[in-house]
Amino acid sequence: MTAAAPGPRGTLSPGERVLLVDAKARRYLLTLQAGAMFHTHAGIVAHDSIIGRTEGVSVVGSTGRVFLVVRPTLADVVLKMPRGAQVIYPKDLGAILLAADIGPGMTVLEAGVGSGALSMALLRARADVVGYEIRPDFAAGARANVAAWSGSDVSYRVEERDVYEGIDETDLDRIVLDLPEPWQVLAHAAKTLRPGGVLLAYLPTINQVATLRAALTRSAFGMAETSETLRRTWHVEERSVRPDHRMVGHTGFLTTARLLVPVDEGEVQQGGVEQRRVEQSGDESGDDEDEPV
Ligand code: SAH
Repeated sequence: MTAAAPGPRGTLSPGERVLLVDAKARRYLLTLQAGAMFHTHAGIVAHDSIIGRTEGVSVVGSTGRVFLVVRPTLADVVLKMPRGAQVIYPKDLGAILLAADIGPGMTVLEAGVGSGALSMALLRARADVVGYEIRPDFAAGARANVAAWSGSDVSYRVEERDVYEGIDETDLDRIVLDLPEPWQVLAHAAKTLRPGGVLLAYLPTINQVATLRAALTRSAFGMAETSETLRRTWHVEERSVRPDHRMVGHTGFLTTARLLVPVDEGEVQQGGVEQRRVEQSGDESGDDEDEPV
């Protein structure tokens, strides 16, 4: 694997994506092209007034309004890129990377791939990603989004197939699922994930979480945890500092579990198995050492 390339630096050049922000904080994403004009509600901006400048610069549009110009962050891109399926929101993408413990050089199976927002976050963490996506049109869209936004220096392959029917990869470090019935993947995951590997499922309803958790207790996985992430932005002005009135009320739940080694009969004699049962059923969550994270 090559070393992580730094993000683009230096002056803004043709072919690059930039984010324009107007005085009302409206955001526009565009690809710079010599001689082109960008039309917004607040006037027309000549691409040539941006090309060759440094990000962070302010440029003036045709009606005298000012626009800030910066390179987009991954979160900006995820919210603005073309999407077929619903993308995972940035607040959850961040949480998923740590909950699933994604890191450089890890082999990650992702299913379904949708628009590729999660793929981009996994690739940003320098994982080697194989995606299974049942819909050919979504698979093509994800490949296009990743090629446009994550560059060519990433390890990414998307296969058009149904993950409920099986997984061909072996010795996977992580499996990350964003599809309706992740419990249909558990048996395949147990055969293809390495022991200790993390499985993560992202689910919009708690009914699905309950079904998954029940299936996990009957599986080779243990140490199951479920969480949701609430993000509240704040309005900050000199005389008025308070939470914003609106926030995203609900997106999805994260459930993680680790693949365990089957219990050895010898261990049973030593009482090790009782501990395992307690952890898998989650009955003892009030333990002092079991701190919320
Ligand atoms: N995480 C993605 C969005 C995924 S949406 C993103 O951030 O952009 C869920 C996707 O799962 C859809 O694209 C759907 O086609 C796919 N899918 C559903 N069932 C599947 C299955 N059994 N195998 C593979 N993909 C599946």
